[in-house]
Amino acid sequence: MKKDIVSMNFEELSIELKEMGLPKFRATQIYDWLHKKCVASFDEMTNISKDLINKLNDNFVIFSCTIEKKLVSQYDNTVKYLFSLPDGEYLECVVMDYKYGHTICVSTQVGCKMGCAFCASGIGGFKRQLAPSEILGQIYAAQRDLGLRISRIVLMGMGEPLDNYDNVMKFLQLVSDERGLNIGMRHISLSTSGIVPRIYDLLNERLQLTLSVSLHAPNNEIRSKIMPVNKSWNIEELLNACKIYADTTSRRISFEYAMMKGVNDTPECARELSKRLKGILCHINLIPANEVPEKGHERSSDSSINLFKSILEKDGHAVTVRRTLGSDINASCGQLRREKIKENQN
Ligand code: SAH
Ligand code: SF4
Repeated sequence: MKKDIVSMNFEELSIELKEMGLPKFRATQIYDWLHKKCVASFDEMTNISKDLINKLNDNFVIFSCTIEKKLVSQYDNTVKYLFSLPDGEYLECVVMDYKYGHTICVSTQVGCKMGCAFCASGIGGFKRQLAPSEILGQIYAAQRDLGLRISRIVLMGMGEPLDNYDNVMKFLQLVSDERGLNIGMRHISLSTSGIVPRIYDLLNERLQLTLSVSLHAPNNEIRSKIMPVNKSWNIEELLNACKIYADTTSRRISFEYAMMKGVNDTPECARELSKRLKGILCHINLIPANEVPEKGHERSSDSSINLFKSILEKDGHAVTVRRTLGSDINASCGQLRREKIKENQN
C-alpha cells in the first residue's frame, strides 16, 4: 500500500526519503511543496525530475479532498465545502471571512460517536477517524480553491477532536510547523464535548491553543438529556478539569452554549450557569442554536438570549453572542453531508 505522505512530519519524511537513497535537501523541497505550496499531485513539483516523480508516485499518495459541492453565502462571503473522500465518505468544512482574516472550521472525524441531541454531525453514527492528512487536506483544498491564505483554524466541524486524539495532535504539529502553513497555536481553537481524561492529556501537551468546551447546560439534569457524554463525565468533573486547565495554562476557556427554546434558555439556567462558572478564567459564547429537522429543538428567541446574556454579564462574566454566519447556506456542521447521504439514498 502506498504511504500517506501528507501525514508525515519533516523528520518522518526525511527518514523515508533517506531510505530511498535520496539526499536531505529533497525532504526540504518536497515538504515545501506539500505543506507550503499545498500541491495536490507530485507532477506539480517543478524542481523534481520526472524519474523521481515516478518513484514518489510509486511509493506515496498525496491525499487531497475532492470538492463535491461548494456554497457561497450571499450575505457574508462564508464558503461551505462538501468534500468527497476516496472511500466514498463525505466531509464538510466552512471558511469564514472575518475582519482579521480567513478562519476555517475543519472536521476531525466522519460522523461522531457522541450523540448530542441537537447536532447533525452524529446522524448516521460514527464512520471513521480522519488521518492528519485528511484534516490538513480540508485547509489545503480550500486555500487552493479560494486562492487565499487561511489565518485561523477552529476544530469545530464534524466529529469530536479529542476522540481522535493522536491524529489531531499530529495535525496540530504539522499545521503549526514553520516549514509548512505555520499557523500559530494562538490562532487555533479546539472544541470538545467534554472527554475529561483527554482534557488532562491536552493540558500536558502545553499547547497555546484556545480550548472551547461545549457546555450547553448549567446542570447534570439538562446536560445528560442533551449530551450523553455527561453520563460518563459529569459537569462537576468537567468544570474541575476546565478550572485546572485554565489555572495551569493561564489561557481562558471558551464555553459554548447553544441556546434552545425551553431546553436551556431560562433566566434560572443563566443564574445557575453564572454560579457554576464563577472562579474559572473563561469566556461564554452563546450560540443561537441551528435548527436541525430530525432533532426537533427550536432556536431561542433574541429576547431570551439577550436576557440570558445580561444575567451573566451582571455577575461579571465575559459573554458574546455568536453571529450566525452563512445562514442561507446551511453553514452549521453536518448538514450538507446529511443532505448528501439522503440524496444518495433516494
Ligand atoms: N465535537 C466537538 C466539536 C464539533 S461541534 C464539540 O462538540 O465541541 C462544534 C460546536 O457546534 C459545538 O459547540 C457543538 O455543540 C455545536 N453545535 C452542534 N450542533 C449545533 C446546533 N444544532 N446548533 C448550534 N450549535 C451546535
Ligand atoms: Fe459530536 Fe460535537 Fe456534534 Fe456532539 S456536538 S455530536 S460531540 S460533533
